[in-house]
Amino acid sequence: MATLHKYDAVVVGAGGAGLWASFELARAGVNCAVITKLYPTRSHTGTAQGGIAAALGNMEEDHPEWHMYDTVKGGDYLVDQDAAEILADEAVVTVIELEHLGLPFDRTPDGKIEQRRFGGHSKPDPNNPGKRIPVMRSCKSSDRTGHMILQTLYQQNVKHNTTFFNEFQVLDLIIQDGECRGCVAIEIATGEIHIFHAKAVILATGGFGKIFKVTSNAHSLTGDLVALAWRRGIPLEDMEFFQFHPTGVYEKGILISEAARGEGGILFNAHGERFMERHAPSMKELAPRDMISRYIFEEVRAGNGVGPHKDAVWLDVRPETINHYKSAPGGRHVTAHQLEASLPDILEFVRLYEGLEPMKEMFLIQPTAHYAMGGIPTDLNGRVINDEKNSVVKGLYAAGECACVSVHGANRLGTNSLIDILVFGRRSGLDAERYIKEAAWSDISPKADEFAISQIEGLKNANGKESVADIRKKMQATMDKQVGVFRNGQDMKAAIGTINDLREAYQEISIMDKGSRFNTDLLEALELGYLLDLAYVTATSALNRTESRGGHAREDFPIRDDVNWLKHTLAYKSNGGVEFKYKPVTITKYQPEERNY
Ligand SMILES: Cc1cc2nc3c(=O)[nH]c(=O)nc-3n(C[C@H](O)[C@H](O)[C@H](O)COP(=O)(O)OP(=O)(O)OC[C@H]3O[C@@H](n4cnc5c(N)ncnc54)[C@H](O)[C@@H]3O)c2cc1C
Repeated sequence: MATLHKYDAVVVGAGGAGLWASFELARAGVNCAVITKLYPTRSHTGTAQGGIAAALGNMEEDHPEWHMYDTVKGGDYLVDQDAAEILADEAVVTVIELEHLGLPFDRTPDGKIEQRRFGGHSKPDPNNPGKRIPVMRSCKSSDRTGHMILQTLYQQNVKHNTTFFNEFQVLDLIIQDGECRGCVAIEIATGEIHIFHAKAVILATGGFGKIFKVTSNAHSLTGDLVALAWRRGIPLEDMEFFQFHPTGVYEKGILISEAARGEGGILFNAHGERFMERHAPSMKELAPRDMISRYIFEEVRAGNGVGPHKDAVWLDVRPETINHYKSAPGGRHVTAHQLEASLPDILEFVRLYEGLEPMKEMFLIQPTAHYAMGGIPTDLNGRVINDEKNSVVKGLYAAGECACVSVHGANRLGTNSLIDILVFGRRSGLDAERYIKEAAWSDISPKADEFAISQIEGLKNANGKESVADIRKKMQATMDKQVGVFRNGQDMKAAIGTINDLREAYQEISIMDKGSRFNTDLLEALELGYLLDLAYVTATSALNRTESRGGHAREDFPIRDDVNWLKHTLAYKSNGGVEFKYKPVTITKYQPEERNY
């Protein structure tokens, strides 16, 4: 028998998005629970090093409107501009509130929050009318900003009596008569099933980078609730747009944050050429990520790559190089000591994973799968919508990387995710609070846990010959090779064929552990099922979009096509396949222009 719980609101996920939503609810006195498969402060938000964007203007002139413009242009005009305006405006109050909640931001000598440069964030160039140059907009706590956000928000939740169900993994959503009424979870330590009956459910389960092999994403980023929402009939928006971050540790994918380039780090090819000067003369190493990842691939293809397979480029953060090129903010002189202070964890990563001394040597980097621009579609208050007319699913919210509101459009700017998760986490919490007051309780079916239990029993009793690890490996290799930085129709058709075969093979898997306690074998098998669905939706959405825009670069359709494709994709599950519908992009202030840096 499942244990039954009743809360006004349930938040699934305890990263930045979930913890701000629950904090907002708890401080308003709402009876609220957070369910998380990881202990809250272990969520992926904690790994974010670079910082959080807000146009505070503490270091130099800056305005939310400039931030909005950069976000729209960075997203290759697929951004919903009403959402980007909210992001840029509310970023300022959000960061100041974080400061008041106790987050230890770095400070300028006169005590203000210190800021640094980041890719795609710009201001008008006073010496070059019409051109833009990097601006210092990223607020930070050394290179541990995400860690500090989680600690701060977790403490606030404890203070306001949020109930935490840590190491509980949600296996299903309860959606009846078009209304979300709760969810079903397994307690990882015991294997016991729990039903959570709620008026509002907020999904904040993060990304799904594990559909790729070379990725910066943690093991847990398997897109559970994104896949479950899709299986329950909710469409997924803009899944073809996945971000490849230009600087991952060679072959391992571990992230070397853009902060390294924000502080002056430079990219070189095999000929010692600073190739970004050729590709993006104004912004250079601080051009947006989608572009730099493509230029790295182009350098490799042109035979200018380095490393054992000539498939990487160099990142150089040595003080003498930065000083020679005057690439530090404002062209100032830097010392090794200063770099150690602003990039401690990043430099330690290089020592640990590349096995060399970054103050003395350059190191190899390669693009790594990093961030899902697409996800569960929502309106500006985090309410999940389920069609092109923006009809909402009552009682269901999504925020953070699992959601698509859409502030990032076809490509996200660095530091814009941390601010997105907090701004829209809060808006979801606030709207849920309003909704809970006016909504009456609806009953849930006594068999609400039937699907979750049948899945678990099915896996425990299966004795098929296919292995979870093998299927996952093949899926990831296929996605890396055929749905990566550059794409073409032929490769993607082949990828979809392989993924379909793997989805069939998945029906024949078996697991070794038949027990109840800490059955990670079982949970990983379920997670593979989610990943296969998301790999499938990503690849089919990518094949369907016959243009190049932001993170979606097609060799067979190299041009952005605003006539036919200035629209959002909605991918629905239909008869084992996928059906596409479209939604217009909201354009308020900035008409699409050619994107150059
Ligand atoms: C290495 C790295 C560095 C980054 N650096 C930056 C940066 O400097 N600036 C920036 O803006 N962005 C950065 N990003 C992106 C940003 O950190 C993430 O997009 C963001 O933190 C996602 O937050 P979230 O709250 O949506 O989800 P997460 O922080 O990923 O949290 C997801 C939560 O969902 C829970 N969960 C998942 N599935 C289930 C389930 N089935 N049942 C119960 N709980 C579940 C997990 O336990 C977890 O608590 C970085 C990302 C990475 C990977």
